[in-house]
Amino acid sequence: MLPIDGRLMSIEQFRAHIATLDLQRVTKVVIHHTYKPDEGDWTRHGGWSYWRKALQRYYEGLGWTRGPHLFVSYEGIGLFYDMTKTGRAVGGGQLETGTLHIEVVGDFMNRLPAGETLNNAVQAAAALMRQTGASLTNHSSVVGGWECPGTKLKANWSWFQGLVQQALDQSDYLPHITEADVWDAPIILEKTRWWMEEEERQREADNTQRARDIRLSLIRWMLTREKWLKEGVRETALPLEYGGE
Ligand SMILES: [Zn+2]
Repeated sequence: MLPIDGRLMSIEQFRAHIATLDLQRVTKVVIHHTYKPDEGDWTRHGGWSYWRKALQRYYEGLGWTRGPHLFVSYEGIGLFYDMTKTGRAVGGGQLETGTLHIEVVGDFMNRLPAGETLNNAVQAAAALMRQTGASLTNHSSVVGGWECPGTKLKANWSWFQGLVQQALDQSDYLPHITEADVWDAPIILEKTRWWMEEEERQREADNTQRARDIRLSLIRWMLTREKWLKEGVRETALPLEYGGE
């Protein structure tokens, strides 16, 4: 038997979900392609709701009791095997220390991931790396000579790495100002609490620079709110000197 989660999440739901998990075991985010099914097969059968069960049966047929953690497609992020546990996808289950597997839905032997599939894969990898401090790698790098995640994607690996790094660097990964929510106390409290927890997670994962960036940005973010609330600023220009990012 191979127990699966089965939920499908947007990237925002996924970020909020992983923030609740203990992922300290994770040191490597490992990228794969599904090869078969490719994106056409995936769509033809109705996507995740079909394939989560088909894949569960497939792996169970191989006698596996663990599997890859995530299947990422244009639909979003499909939660398969429990991310807090060691899964199975490389080296016959013998090279799994610290791995968290992302299966990107598609055949990337002759083409590259694109569109929402690419975006979801990049954002999911970045979210996991940000939370755990894990490095990014792929099946072929963990098990030398393997074709997964596809000849074309392997040949363009630095391109994919660059996209993930860009996602990690994006300013919406730091607290930032929006004029719309400055008057909404529950939202201010929720965001402040979330970012303080995020800072703590980063510090615990020894990502001290990231933790410091979050702290400084959070201070700027709160200063702006304080100033706006005290001065009753609503329609006037934004106080950009506190605007941070
Ligand atoms: Zn693979």
